[in-house]
Amino acid sequence: MTRELRPATIASHAAGAVDPQSGGVVPPIQPATTFMRDENYALIRPDNVYSRDQSDTVRMAETVLRKLEQAQDTLLFPAGMAAIAAVFRTLRAGDTAIIQSGIYWGTTKWVRDFCARRDVTLYEVDASDLPALQAVCTAQKPALVFVETPSNPWLKIVDIKAAAQAAHAAGGILVVDATAATPILMQPLALGADIVMHSASKAINGHSDVLAGVLSTNTPDAPIWDMIKADRHDAGAVLGPFEAWLLIRGMRTLPLRVERMTQNTEALAAFLHAHPMVEDVFYPGLPHHPGHAVAAQQMSGYGSLMSVLVKGGKDDALRIVGKLQLFMRATSLGGVESLVEHRHTIEPHTGIPENLIRVSVGIEDIDDLIADWTEALG
Ligand SMILES: *Cc1c(COP(=O)(O)O)cnc(C)c1O
Repeated sequence: MTRELRPATIASHAAGAVDPQSGGVVPPIQPATTFMRDENYALIRPDNVYSRDQSDTVRMAETVLRKLEQAQDTLLFPAGMAAIAAVFRTLRAGDTAIIQSGIYWGTTKWVRDFCARRDVTLYEVDASDLPALQAVCTAQKPALVFVETPSNPWLKIVDIKAAAQAAHAAGGILVVDATAATPILMQPLALGADIVMHSASKAINGHSDVLAGVLSTNTPDAPIWDMIKADRHDAGAVLGPFEAWLLIRGMRTLPLRVERMTQNTEALAAFLHAHPMVEDVFYPGLPHHPGHAVAAQQMSGYGSLMSVLVKGGKDDALRIVGKLQLFMRATSLGGVESLVEHRHTIEPHTGIPENLIRVSVGIEDIDDLIADWTEALG
């Protein structure tokens, strides 16, 4: 077929990953770390020498992601954090970087430590406040601007097109952590981002059983992309073939899962927002959300992550979380099973409200999910 395939078709067929040798409709796992040469010492496959970082199984998973992202090149890493680290390790001593404030705590913590050790000047700014972001870019001329949208757990929305313009005008590049959106709901590269990053441990894999991270770009000839590729190959932050194989399997249903999770979240967010025990709901799909208009423009759905502020304090939030039966009390997001987390307990010193419950909505029946919250809220 000459027509460009849609995401559901690409994912369901794993971008054509079959086993030509056996005729199997699913690809095999190739666990070899090393690859043979023939009697003339020529490699049997010139692109396979050693599995740091040459693996057909990893390449297949990357192909699916590259097509879903409509990117020109895609690299998998053994965790989302490994992907983020590979980006920041391209900075030189004396460079300046900007990260969005109030994002995934693991990113903030690692980037702060890294920049302090490597003599990189770091500014943290609320990137959902566009004039604030533009002002820091103009004044500080960052080499790298890193934003996360929708952000976790505040669900702030960054205008990617405007952020890319601000970063580029300052001579820097824009990297977007789009984990909460997935490549199905948002494509930052088309909006001007230089690199898009996802923790594939979340909705991309979707079954809470693989750790992985991914970077994609539409400028594979840019110097930063060369450095990132060399860093992965030379420093060895590579995904194993078993994890890549599970990822290929999980991604077959990615568009389907995202569709159902988004529908469920929209319904649950509206229900909770109208509930007398709820003070506020942070979800970009709700019309009162400050980022709603930008989200409506740059996303084709609002995703499966939200935060609920319940009326009362810490004890009230913990009591409600303790009463939930379907929503499991565990960190992480994007899986087929619904999860809740009391973020303040996990990171007490980062300004997370004590009455905030972060919610990741799965693919369960929405009536069951609403019934669970109805009982828990009392
Ligand atoms: C989980 C997460 C990460 C880190 O990914 P890991 O795969 O856990 O290393 C980064 N950013 C966001 C938004 C996340 O949710």
